[in-house]
Amino acid sequence: MSLRARLTLYYTIVLGAVLVLFGLAVYGLISVVQLRQVDSALERAARDLLFVARVDDQGDIIFIQRVSFDSSVISQVWNTEAQLIGVTQTVDPQSPLMQPLDASVMESEERVFTDALIGGISYRVLTVPLHSNGMRVGVLQSGTSLSIFDALRTDLVRYLILLSGIAILIAGMLGLVTGRRALAPLATVTDTALQITRADDLSRRIPEPSDPEDEVGRLITAFNDTLARLDKLFTTQRRFVADIGHELRTPLTVVRGNLDLMRRMGRMDEESMHSIEQEVVRLSRLVEDLLVLAQAESGKLPMDRRRVELDSLLLEVFNQVRVLAGENIKLEIGKIDQVLVCGDRDRLRQVVLNLMANAIKYTKPGGVVTASLSKDEQSAKLAVKDTGLGIPAADLPHVFERFYRGDKSRSRAKDGAGFGLGLSIAYWIVRNHKGDIEVKSRPNRGSTFTIRLPLADENCPDTTSDLRLEPSFPVSSAATTAPLPDAQPEHID
Ligand code: ADP
Repeated sequence: MSLRARLTLYYTIVLGAVLVLFGLAVYGLISVVQLRQVDSALERAARDLLFVARVDDQGDIIFIQRVSFDSSVISQVWNTEAQLIGVTQTVDPQSPLMQPLDASVMESEERVFTDALIGGISYRVLTVPLHSNGMRVGVLQSGTSLSIFDALRTDLVRYLILLSGIAILIAGMLGLVTGRRALAPLATVTDTALQITRADDLSRRIPEPSDPEDEVGRLITAFNDTLARLDKLFTTQRRFVADIGHELRTPLTVVRGNLDLMRRMGRMDEESMHSIEQEVVRLSRLVEDLLVLAQAESGKLPMDRRRVELDSLLLEVFNQVRVLAGENIKLEIGKIDQVLVCGDRDRLRQVVLNLMANAIKYTKPGGVVTASLSKDEQSAKLAVKDTGLGIPAADLPHVFERFYRGDKSRSRAKDGAGFGLGLSIAYWIVRNHKGDIEVKSRPNRGSTFTIRLPLADENCPDTTSDLRLEPSFPVSSAATTAPLPDAQPEHID
């Protein structure tokens, strides 16, 4: 059953129940009011009759005056010998109306209202015992037929049923129409979803809802957001695969070319072997970096969290990159505070090493690279500043994306430039440490990369004196079989 039909059904069932309750209330109320009116008419008739009745010396009831009575009410006066001594309507002596209207209460000592069936017709009867000087002298019974009221009530029931039926029918039809109108946007959502599936086109969107705040509006907005996210993920995925293909093609071409050359030469060539070896090393690095990135992005990067003296780590890296800087680039240590953070020392060193190496790589001879470390109450701030090439404003939001490389660096690819994964890995490692990383840069003025990490708290285990393997630059992680996730680093402005 469709949602529209279901809603309409519930709606009409509820309306039907309300109408039934309402009908019962009206019926009950009208019955009570009617009965009250009948009872007071009977009271009036009895009072009128008693007004002209007297008891004579013999103790018999006599009527002192003829009065005209309400013709719809019949009143009888019976004496104690069960003789009818007065009746307000002339009726056939054989008529049941010449008998007590309700014989069962003739002896009653109190005035009572009863229902009786006389000649197949239901009557309302008032019985009043008559007394004179404390002696019972007779009984008065007034009665009126309820057939008019019964007919009225039957009509009332009939009309209530008829009107309720019409109301339910109209409500049902209106429910179907309004349901169709209200749920029409849902049909559009379904159609669009089907079109997207058929056409495999995630760039489509459902037209903006008229009211974005109602349920359907919110559904459409949520659906469009999901589509936008999926679209972005698939685009990223496609670009990712294309990038990997591109990265793999160059070294493989070099390897094949050199192997071809050696086959044609018919001997092993030392230079070709060296070239092949270089490319294979580069390929392994790419694969390893990709796997680290995949693990880091999915938050599954194995990490040995301990207290890390960030200041000594920075100095360690500083000494390590001296070789890279050579004579031409000046390496400086700025302010350096003693800072303890909680994290994986090797991963953090990988990040710092990457930032320092990049700063050196993208700084022209004569430039300066400065590393500094400070802290506030909650976090440590490590900054690597250079006076190098800088990053164009348009590129800044993308530097932490995987495979992102500025044009200048692409042209330097031959002399050992990376794959454009270093900052991406750094970004995710810092994120895995609950920190953040940002960059400020101006072309030809230089860049500053800043990492913020939370300070170590008392729950962080102490550093062990484990022997640590010094990673040689560029740093690679251990290979794993974790799948590559879709997520991309968020842009940092
Ligand atoms: P790569 O291996 O290409 O250096 P990264 O992910 O480390 O990859 O860096 C991505 C890109 O960001 C680089 O190609 C470069 O264009 C830019 N970049 C990174 N660090 C700097 C820097 N200190 N100065 C200028 N550009 C930088």
